[in-house]
Amino acid sequence: MPTSTLARVAVPVPVRRTFDFLIPKDSTVSPGVRVLVPFGGRRLVGVVVATGFSSEVPRERLKSVEQVYDREPVVPGRLLETLTWAADYYHHPIGEVMHAALPFDLRRGIATRPRSRDAYRLTAQGAAYDPVLLDRAPAQKRLLQLLQHGSSSPRTAADCRTVSPSWRRAMSALIAKGLASIAQTPTELSPTSDRATPVLLNPAQRAASAQIVAALGRYRSFLLYGITGSGKTEVYLRVVNAAIERRKQALVLVPEIALTPQLIERFQHGSGSSVALFHSGMSAAERYRVWRAAASGGADVVLGTRSAIFVPLLRPGVFIVDEEHDASYKQQDGFRYHARDLALYRAKREGIPVVLGSATPALETLANAERGRHQRLELAARAGAARLPAIRMLDLRTTTAVGGVSRPLLDAMRKRIERGEQSLLFLNRRGYAPVMYCVHCQWCAHCPRCDAKLTCHRSSAQLRCHHCGHTDSMPPNCPHCGRDSLMHLGEGTQRVEQSLRAQFPQAKILRIDRDATRRKGRLEAALQQAKGGEAEILVGTQLLSKGHDFPKVTLVGVINADQGLFSLDFRAAEHLLQQILQVAGRAGRADKHGEVLIQTSCPDHPYFRSLATHDYGEFAQTALAERKQARCPPYRHFALLRAESTASGEALRFLSFARTRALSATRDMPSNGIAVMDPVPAPMEKRAGRYRAQLLLSAGYRPPLHRALERLLRDLEKSPQSRRVRWSLDVDPIDLY
Ligand code: ADP
Ligand code: ZN
Ligand code: ZN
Repeated sequence: MPTSTLARVAVPVPVRRTFDFLIPKDSTVSPGVRVLVPFGGRRLVGVVVATGFSSEVPRERLKSVEQVYDREPVVPGRLLETLTWAADYYHHPIGEVMHAALPFDLRRGIATRPRSRDAYRLTAQGAAYDPVLLDRAPAQKRLLQLLQHGSSSPRTAADCRTVSPSWRRAMSALIAKGLASIAQTPTELSPTSDRATPVLLNPAQRAASAQIVAALGRYRSFLLYGITGSGKTEVYLRVVNAAIERRKQALVLVPEIALTPQLIERFQHGSGSSVALFHSGMSAAERYRVWRAAASGGADVVLGTRSAIFVPLLRPGVFIVDEEHDASYKQQDGFRYHARDLALYRAKREGIPVVLGSATPALETLANAERGRHQRLELAARAGAARLPAIRMLDLRTTTAVGGVSRPLLDAMRKRIERGEQSLLFLNRRGYAPVMYCVHCQWCAHCPRCDAKLTCHRSSAQLRCHHCGHTDSMPPNCPHCGRDSLMHLGEGTQRVEQSLRAQFPQAKILRIDRDATRRKGRLEAALQQAKGGEAEILVGTQLLSKGHDFPKVTLVGVINADQGLFSLDFRAAEHLLQQILQVAGRAGRADKHGEVLIQTSCPDHPYFRSLATHDYGEFAQTALAERKQARCPPYRHFALLRAESTASGEALRFLSFARTRALSATRDMPSNGIAVMDPVPAPMEKRAGRYRAQLLLSAGYRPPLHRALERLLRDLEKSPQSRRVRWSLDVDPIDLY
């Protein structure tokens, strides 16, 4: 049998290419396994992306793979294809893409053999398997029998060791044959026995889930467009259960770690299946365990945040992206991927359906549904008894506000307290006040490292920069004129909390923002408390707005809705509306009717008129028309070249150079419609001591844009100018900062 003698390896270095190595005679490698390779005087762990090719490099100049870590690929074929595509699409070094996708332990060449802290269970196939068929592998046979005797509870490594000292190899073989899998842990997250009786789906839910279930087994993408509280999660549950019944696994992405406990409970109760969590708040060891459980088929459902899109599944059945519009799906540094877009591509490769769910879909997603790329499924009414809350504008020009909260809002809150209901105040600014200012000399507290003002944090008596983390102690007097004339302008969550305490001294007030919940477990505890209904008033940032179910909240107040209306960012209005509708969705989810009061200085803004009727669709039509006019996504595709330098002007100089290179890269691409803008300073030019600038490239079609980008980057990578600044490319940027 001819064995391949060359391996093409993705090495974790910031270079956009692979490297070829010889495979030693006595080893075999296949795409997706990890190898140790000599690289520039170091030894690095890389992932094989191809074998069986002929190299352009003469054999005698090729170095040899030093070690092969895996017999089975750690990155299975379709996931490997997805990652290779992503490296291309985002023009990012493939070695770094692999590095980002692998759990920590696998990045350091640790072998993937069974570990003493693992536990194992039978697969359905293993339960039905006749051990006699394993007569020629006695250790495997005895292990299988051990698992079969243990009913459904997983066996620990210690149990397995009693069967045979070489149990690890035998277990690996059983796993490879699909007879056994790694369980997550012997105790936690095992299937719950008290499976809840499923709710009766309403007709819209039934139609939606039937369509998705009918697509199991092939690629198809769905937009599940359902208003808040319309029962999208119930649809996910049905679809996931149907996949599990077909012995498939489901991957469910959510934007927030804080949402996972709530969902995990619903998935476990709703399906009686084994659900594994995967997010960045877990330790590397925990994540690795889940990763392997998923890869070996041991977890029916993997529920995770952005990076869970890289978890391999032995038997993928369906992908679900909940709150698909959420910006947290976009990685904002390094490998700047979008998990929703990767989910779409990966689902296509895996040949499975993918569901994008949202009450306020991204305009891109709506446009794609309109073009027929996604099948649109609608849930237009709230499930069960709940009705949509009434939304009203409070005109800040004609009402006075105390500490940011207007009279009518205070009155509405007082009524809720009297009735024993909860109010939720939403404000996207933490801290006490965004500005500290001297009324005498107009001095204002600025961050020395950023083009930004410092935020006052009264509780710690500090001034803090929310962009770079710089802190100063709060001066008692004006540092400039020395007078005792400092004032706080504007309000953050702490100030709103303080003024509410003065207004409602008897009420229990719970503030939920990043400052109040920094310590591990605090956010979960606070959300639990909020749901329990003990606190009469909840004050918080977007941490409170997403997906949570607060049954006793009947009033939502939006403190200042105007920030997004006049922003330079073309997506600001979309994000504003999404945020308001999401937070409004927290009101009146149970049987009590809800009300939403929005404080604004522009109550007549057309966007707010769509809000009053909960008509996100109407807003989306208007906003899409504006985007078309302004030649913005989704009608054009953007790529942003960013640069930064500690020396002022250097980043702009580099981008001017890049622009000339971009123009020459596209010169022989006639009528390609590629536009190369002038480089400009970033909207916040100085950040953390670095001066930043950006260059926007756009095109009506992706292929020519990507060809041009590829040429441009090759060119820039060779030029000495590119080594004077830090620069990176952001494909499909979601904000232009
Ligand atoms: P979404 O995910 O769309 O915000 P959920 O799935 O969380 O909505 O459902 C909102 C509430 O309605 C939940 O309390 C859920 O239990 C309930 N619910 C969902 N579907 C139904 C149904 N068919 N009948 C009764 N209640 C339902
Ligand atoms: Zn002063
Ligand atoms: Zn700063």
